[in-house]
Amino acid sequence: MARHIYVHNPFCAGKCPYCDFYSITDKSFIESFYNAALREVRLTGEIITSDTGANTGIEKNSKDTVYFGGGTPSFPDSRLICSLLEETVKAFNISPDAEITIEANPSSLTEDKLRDYKAAGFNRISVGVQSLDDGVLKTLGRLHDSKGAKDALQKITRAGFSNISADLITGVPGETLQGIKNDIKVFNELGVKHISTYSLMLEEGTRFYERYSRTLEDLVSPETEREMYHGVREYLQLSGYETYEISNSALPGYKSIHNSSYWNSCEYFAVGAGAHGYIGDMRYGHKDDVRAYVDEMGKITPDECKAFLEGLAGDLKSFYVEEMLTEEDKMKEVPFLRLRTTEGILLDEFYDRFNVQFEDVFADAVKSNIEKGLLERKERTLRLTRSGLDLANVVIEDFL
Ligand code: SF4
Repeated sequence: MARHIYVHNPFCAGKCPYCDFYSITDKSFIESFYNAALREVRLTGEIITSDTGANTGIEKNSKDTVYFGGGTPSFPDSRLICSLLEETVKAFNISPDAEITIEANPSSLTEDKLRDYKAAGFNRISVGVQSLDDGVLKTLGRLHDSKGAKDALQKITRAGFSNISADLITGVPGETLQGIKNDIKVFNELGVKHISTYSLMLEEGTRFYERYSRTLEDLVSPETEREMYHGVREYLQLSGYETYEISNSALPGYKSIHNSSYWNSCEYFAVGAGAHGYIGDMRYGHKDDVRAYVDEMGKITPDECKAFLEGLAGDLKSFYVEEMLTEEDKMKEVPFLRLRTTEGILLDEFYDRFNVQFEDVFADAVKSNIEKGLLERKERTLRLTRSGLDLANVVIEDFL
């Protein structure tokens, strides 16, 4: 079975006002965090010498993947990032053809770092561009401008990377559909193979929430945001990018294997404060607390770590159990994860995995959503219709 590892790098140069991902700007923890992460990788890799076997996601033709997300993995010294990757590859016995991704911010990406990433084995870069409009970037509080983003994409290509992804945020005050189309055109010209488009969300606890939650009229209206979503999706298609998940589109051959492993209910390991994983029947995480993480990794014994990963220990100082999944929970996760994909729910795979027909387990939800025109059945798949895409959360709620 392919192996998937997510490494959370919780450091950023500054905090973007809309962001609720776990990240900190206190650099004094960087060295100790990466030492702790090295220890976690060694401990976990040693324990996972064979497949746990309890998790039966869809794993057809999949490759091993390692994903350095954040935070901003391109912010710390590349020496720390590269030694952690090298240790991860060794400890988890990652195959040479694995997809190995690093997220990067244009403001902290340099030619030297790119050279180090390439030499260490990264073969995919996901760049947080968000927009190529300087006004929109300013509203988002990003540390780079449009020129900096384009320069970064050119540097990445020059460094020899061909598997490049870029993020765009839609629904930002002042943003237009035509502006986003222009960004996609430039991405295409600069060799971007994969584009993730995220709608701006007001997350509690962020500066944007404080600023906009009382004056929603300053935001793009939900109707305009939906028009933008479909307009962007159509333009991506015209430009050769196939939308394979609500937020993700790729040129042929460039879908993210790592992200697909999430939607396919595959097992994945979590490394680093703020990281979440799924092993056996357990969804687990590390608390959003670098200090607790460093402390725990300095003290935890191999036996304690093993007991936790086997679901026997309960919460520790940093590690915590999010949920122990029953068979029923695992079935409910299928519509939750798969309805986000364009492929939809694969009815035969569901039967192979659970030995029961999806349409028998979820008869009412399937029937009512097909009648409302939100879900469609095509041969042995069930997926959202165009109207269903706009109400994805409502449809998914019916299955939970
Ligand atoms: S750089 Fe990314 S992770 Fe860091 S604060 Fe900004 S959006 Fe969040």
